[in-house]
Amino acid sequence: MRIGYGWDSHEFKDNLPLKIGGVQIPFSKGLSGHSDGDVLLHALTDALLGAVAAGDIGRYFPPSDPQWKGADSTIFVQEALKQVHRAGYAVANVDSTVILAEPKLGPHSVKIQARMAKLLGIRASQVGIKAKTPEGMGTDHAAIAHVVVLLAPRPAKPRRLRKATWATERST
Ligand code: MG
Repeated sequence: MRIGYGWDSHEFKDNLPLKIGGVQIPFSKGLSGHSDGDVLLHALTDALLGAVAAGDIGRYFPPSDPQWKGADSTIFVQEALKQVHRAGYAVANVDSTVILAEPKLGPHSVKIQARMAKLLGIRASQVGIKAKTPEGMGTDHAAIAHVVVLLAPRPAKPRRLRKATWATERST
């Protein structure tokens, strides 16, 4: 088993689309960043990479590279998942907490859970989504996400008999 942890934060800015967990959420502000600012998918990416000691999001997608400007953050998750599979692991479960003053994430949590499960190729019951308000933290202008992932060894593919083997067996 392997465990991974990721953390990220982005600042709210006026008139930007708000994306959290790959889901567009109606709100007057969005999260600014070099990509689409999806704080939850960035934390998930780092948790996946961290679990297989494969560096962090900046190593694969440096903010200095103009090709990631406005990028859909699902690309980052897909690359991290590739690294997880390459290392011989599969995602057992994910848990997350998003900390933001508004909007309320509760009404969108089922959609976010389904979206993240689909991205990871797992069931919704393997993805935890929790939202908190930043009581006393003074971070009302930002969204913060924490994600942990648990990885289990990938089951080996069943071996298939080769045609040659069949031929030998039938001739005896
Ligand atoms: Mg980020």
